[in-house]
Amino acid sequence: MMRLTCPFCGARELHEFQFHKTAPEPGANPFAAVYERVNRTDISQEYWQHLHGCRAWLYVSRNPSTGEVYQVHLLGTQS
Ligand SMILES: [Zn+2]
Repeated sequence: MMRLTCPFCGARELHEFQFHKTAPEPGANPFAAVYERVNRTDISQEYWQHLHGCRAWLYVSRNPSTGEVYQVHLLGTQS
């Protein structure tokens, strides 16, 4: 079962979160991010919200093929 670790609430079940969309690759041209995007199977940068918790917006790096979560940051604090 997939879990995400909210920076405020700790590890929670996935049903507490809502996926919003994938984030463009860092440094990508905005046009290319919309019209030339290639869905990667090894890593995906995504926007999520802890909707049924603290409602924080999160920036999640994960493997969409396996569901493994690499990093979770509060949106705007990722480096
Ligand atoms: Zn939270």
